[in-house]
Amino acid sequence: MTGVISLLPEGRHGLLVPPLGRSEDLDSYLAVGGYAPLVAPQRLLDRIAALGLRGRGGAGFPAAVKLRAVRAAPGPRVVVANGEEGEPGSVKDRWLLRHRPHVVLDGLRLAAAMTGAERGFVYLSDAPAERAVRRALAECAPELRIDVVRTEHTYVAGEESAVVRRINGGPALPTAKPPRPFESGVGGAPTLVANVETLARVAAMYSRPDAADPVAGSHLVTVSGPGGGAALVEVPAGTHLKVLADLSGHGRADAVLLGGLFGGLYGEGWADLPLGHDSLNAVGGALGCGALHFLGPEDCPVAVAVEAAAYLGAQSARQCGVCVSGTGALARALSAVAHGEAGYDTVEKLHRWSRQLPGRGACGLLDAAARIGATLLDRFPDQVDAHRGSGCPACSDAASEDGRRFAVPVP
Ligand code: SF4
Repeated sequence: MTGVISLLPEGRHGLLVPPLGRSEDLDSYLAVGGYAPLVAPQRLLDRIAALGLRGRGGAGFPAAVKLRAVRAAPGPRVVVANGEEGEPGSVKDRWLLRHRPHVVLDGLRLAAAMTGAERGFVYLSDAPAERAVRRALAECAPELRIDVVRTEHTYVAGEESAVVRRINGGPALPTAKPPRPFESGVGGAPTLVANVETLARVAAMYSRPDAADPVAGSHLVTVSGPGGGAALVEVPAGTHLKVLADLSGHGRADAVLLGGLFGGLYGEGWADLPLGHDSLNAVGGALGCGALHFLGPEDCPVAVAVEAAAYLGAQSARQCGVCVSGTGALARALSAVAHGEAGYDTVEKLHRWSRQLPGRGACGLLDAAARIGATLLDRFPDQVDAHRGSGCPACSDAASEDGRRFAVPVP
């Protein structure tokens, strides 16, 4: 099953509203209050801060803090709608751009007004999304100059410094920080790089002030698992993961991979975890971009960790020495566990690396690989032990570097 499901109570103005199955046009967007004149940008910014809207690209950073940082910097300024979702198990950003381009462009317009930006970009890699955005731009003829920049689809291409570097004409690879984009971004100008779901939520909050609270507190989540079943779901924060698993046909799962590949593995007790940045951070996981991949009884967590680490190793941009050696070493050690070739020293090294490596790369890829290793060891010690002795033929084959296991088609 692959579908689009909203669990928001009737009357709440979610993002997965009709028109479903086709791209919204200008008339249908105007009919739900879109592109309303913004007379008091500061008031909207204050409202976003008061509601605690957090970015939906992965880090969950408060949206108002980023907006204020760009607004406080000397102009000219730039705003970017970042629609490049590198996590292989996430489809929400491409779905929004393909089906609701106007709500994203409206959010970009509002972000420009709040920051005082004079120039905007839509950054993406998906060809159908690009067509939908260009069609919407031709329809609405925005006052803000907006260019569409196409990038390659990689794990790191959506990282905010990679976004700026690509728009500036370079490769879509992260850079060392500082400077951060709000200090020196596109063309050296202070730049807001905002995820497209974040911008869509800003627009939805503005067009329906009565529903701003639930809009700010809801999430688009991509759920997938064994057998190819997947769904794009909109739910209030705090929804238990069991609800999401049931919706996608994975209610009998044994474990879950959180946050795309960024939040690590979680086993017993996963069903009662409430969805949210803080709740998942509190258990050593992460919500990331909101992608959840469930593991069925037939899925071995060792095999999933091996495949995730192999994928991340292949996606490393190979520009930070610690990432090149670290992701490679983690992937090799996990593969040794799967093959029954790991001694106690290998497991000890995995423990050590998973504590020492996070935060040492220019982007989060190394952190993701380390967390996968750490959570496998911490939460599945029996399975790791069982593999160490004799390996497992099924896990030994699980070294695909293309992330096939985690890939989800855009509904
Ligand atoms: S941490 Fe890895 S993926 Fe990220 S910028 Fe450095 S080399 Fe590239």
